[in-house]
Amino acid sequence: MEGVQRRNPGQTEFIQAVQEVAQDIFDFIEDKEEYHEAQILRRIAEPERVVSFRVCWEDDNHNIRVQRGWRVQNNNAIGPYKGGIRFHPSVTESVLKFLAFEQTFKNSLTGLPMGGGKGGANFNPRGKSDSEVMRFCQSFMTELYRHIGPDTDVPAGDIGVGAREIGYMFGQYKRITNRWEGVLTGKGMEYGGSQMRPEATGYGAVYFLQNMLKHSGQEIEDRTAVISGSGNVATHAAEKITQLGGKVLTLSDSGGFIHDPDGIDQEKINWVKELKTVRRGRISEYADEFGGATYHEGERPWNVKCDLALPCATQNELNEDEAKTLVGNGVVAVSEGANMPTTLDGVKVFHDAKIMYGPGKAANAGGVAVSGLEMSQNSERISWNHERLGEMLTELMEGIHGKCVEYGEQGKYVDYVKGANIAGFKKVADAMLAFGVV
Ligand code: NDP
Repeated sequence: MEGVQRRNPGQTEFIQAVQEVAQDIFDFIEDKEEYHEAQILRRIAEPERVVSFRVCWEDDNHNIRVQRGWRVQNNNAIGPYKGGIRFHPSVTESVLKFLAFEQTFKNSLTGLPMGGGKGGANFNPRGKSDSEVMRFCQSFMTELYRHIGPDTDVPAGDIGVGAREIGYMFGQYKRITNRWEGVLTGKGMEYGGSQMRPEATGYGAVYFLQNMLKHSGQEIEDRTAVISGSGNVATHAAEKITQLGGKVLTLSDSGGFIHDPDGIDQEKINWVKELKTVRRGRISEYADEFGGATYHEGERPWNVKCDLALPCATQNELNEDEAKTLVGNGVVAVSEGANMPTTLDGVKVFHDAKIMYGPGKAANAGGVAVSGLEMSQNSERISWNHERLGEMLTELMEGIHGKCVEYGEQGKYVDYVKGANIAGFKKVADAMLAFGVV
């Protein structure tokens, strides 16, 4: 870890992610000489490639704007690099390296042949016109296209990159290369997208939660849930919780959170989806629309009493004190829709309290799993229907839960972080061993 800190100065998110995985891996590899000899841990903590590039574009007032773009290709031992693209002002190389590192283990856990990568830019789509977003996406892809390909690296969406942005980027890739190929996932249904992909991450996080509860003889029905975020993952997690008979009390965005004691039902969820994807409004508007709901500016939802918590917004959005509050209020299980939303100190609180805690790399793997299925459909020039993909997603999440239990069970308690880290690591590490020193 000293070496990781020395080689990555100031990259706190990346160091945090490596630290979290390394703790579990150390125990696992202690008596396995081949991993030590091949320096697997040292190699796995070094991205295979980090591409950084300038992205120039012109805004509607004819000002020339300059952003920075990246693609981090972390590890392709078990398949082409795969992972989303994030457009957000908070994007840095450290954030993308952490996400690409996590993605490597997550993709391995799905059982599908996908390596780990992540990309993005410090571009803020909020408040930009459609034309501005289009020009930015086209400029971004004009550089990115040379580093990706259906057998090389297959990006997808993430924060700030939804169907609109994927469409603009796919269009530009196709135009530059004169090739129609499955180079991005999360595409529209008209041009090679997969059924179930929009729902997959949020639904998957709830299926993972359902599996954790089932493992200890419990269920979601009649349970209250607190969810953060109001984007793709949060709204679909809310939808699935509601379908399974749970009651969702909160949603949030970077401005604050809304609390609706009556429950956020399907009709209200549809309203939020429209608010966020069509009108591109703020979650505060929810409290004006629905009587009984309150808006809490500048706050996060973790002090609302609940049985289940699903952080679905962004990294480090749930800290030690908030974890203590959740535990104090009797939370039974936490399932992470977002990537690394709980700080290391927060995770420790959940572990010490022995509540069920599903880390993002396992709980939110449903999204990339269905992306893997989108790649298969594109290669085979076929498309499976919604129902079939729904069944596949359910099975995939059950399988991921099973692997976490296999490596993380400690008596009656399951350490899902440890289970996910070891199961994800083992497959990648064994593939790396097979390749020799490369
Ligand atoms: P969206 O852009 O659709 O939504 C993101 C949500 O998080 C918005 O409500 C946004 O609010 C909020 N948010 C973003 N940054 C912050 C912040 N700094 N503080 C508080 N709230 C914030 O993204 P997704 O729903 O796709 O992604 C959410 C999380 O899930 C991310 O961690 C992502 O990496 C992860 N994930 C997503 C997958 C997917 O398939 N989409 C797959 C696996 C993981 P605002 O509108 O104010 O910015």
